[in-house]
Amino acid sequence: MSIISDIVESTKAIIKGMSVTFSYIPKEKWTVQYPEEPVTMQPRYRGQHLLHVDELGREKCVACFLCAAACPSDCIYIIAADDPRAPEERTGVDERFAQVYNIDYGRCIFCGYCVEACPKDAITHGYNFELSVYNRADLLKTKDDLLITKQKQSPNYRVAFADEDVDSEYKEV
Ligand code: SF4
Ligand code: SF4
Repeated sequence: MSIISDIVESTKAIIKGMSVTFSYIPKEKWTVQYPEEPVTMQPRYRGQHLLHVDELGREKCVACFLCAAACPSDCIYIIAADDPRAPEERTGVDERFAQVYNIDYGRCIFCGYCVEACPKDAITHGYNFELSVYNRADLLKTKDDLLITKQKQSPNYRVAFADEDVDSEYKEV
């Protein structure tokens, strides 16, 4: 192939490539300047788990181990204990409660089986997605990290409204 035809072919390829680039410039940007701008999370998003409490602030978990049994990653660790105090003074809604409730996020695959298995609605997925750590051991979250009354929520996200069409923004791109 001559040098001339090489130049012509290369020029055509550059023009074709740049025409695609330029065609995107007038379109609306969907890049989020995280963390300056909050990320929009889908209502169905599965983030860090939340352990729930009742209206009296008592933990809903009754340490039945069903979540741990359903977990395919074997990453839930529970130690059950008995709290013989009067119902209104107890840590949990039942005499039996989880003295220790750990989830190892180094193993969790966010499948949601634990949430489905819980008969007490004691555990759900929250929206917290900022789980990065420098040390693998810090991926082990304890009850204090998971309880809804204690878990620190990031200001860097907002949850989309149920009727908000977030998906199509991405489909368009
Ligand atoms: S989301 Fe899945 S992998 Fe993670 S703790 Fe629950 S059951 Fe286990
Ligand atoms: S979170 Fe639910 S399923 Fe797991 S031990 Fe507690 S009550 Fe049982």
